[in-house]
Amino acid sequence: MTLIDNLLTLYKVDRQVRSLRSRVESAEIYLKVQKRQMDVIAVEQTENEVQTKQHKANVANIETEVGSIDARIDLLREELKKAVNDKQYSALLAEVNTIKEHKKAFEDEELTELTALESLDNAAKDILERADEREKVIQVATKELKVRESEIAEQLAELETERSTAAAIIPEDTLDDFDALADDYEGEAMASIEIIDLKRKEYSCTSCSLRLPLDSITSMLGNKELVVKCVSCDRILYLEAEAREAIAPSD
Ligand SMILES: [Zn+2]
Repeated sequence: MTLIDNLLTLYKVDRQVRSLRSRVESAEIYLKVQKRQMDVIAVEQTENEVQTKQHKANVANIETEVGSIDARIDLLREELKKAVNDKQYSALLAEVNTIKEHKKAFEDEELTELTALESLDNAAKDILERADEREKVIQVATKELKVRESEIAEQLAELETERSTAAAIIPEDTLDDFDALADDYEGEAMASIEIIDLKRKEYSCTSCSLRLPLDSITSMLGNKELVVKCVSCDRILYLEAEAREAIAPSD
């Protein structure tokens, strides 16, 4: 087995591993998206709680103010009963009326606060409903992921062993290069050479369609231990048996 043959073996099993993993990856991504949406809901929930707390504190303050106004009004009413002349009476009555206006302003403010609390409460119910729905989706997605993981576990373990065996016989620097390319190109680390015109010696990379310099082809034909890469997309080039036979029949 030549280096290129060994790389092709690795390439094939690596793609199988990736394709198998992708079945689980889509379920992982789906679950992650659901969890992220749940996080958004949790933020909404916290904001709602903070605002509710603030408005409730405002209502409590208003009620304290109204309580002390009521106490003052009661006191003034007692004094009104004891008023000794018209002037005193009028002055006390004027104060009662002024204070009543203050009270009215506080009551209006309280109404605004209570309206805000009501809409916050409705929003809280809506948030809770959405959180419940999302939680159910997360549970289903978690289960689905586990099912998919267990479905592929055995086959994946076998393929990974096969992959390690294939990788073990590749020189380290070539293997590093292969792994980086496979990661960059979603497993497509290698590309076959297409014969465009045999007589004119025109060849191209099947992945990126770039016309390949003749040097690349002659180097490959001359030394099967040599890694030749596409000058454009950087993938490791190989010749299918048929193409090799067409280019160099004597080989
Ligand atoms: Zn290419």
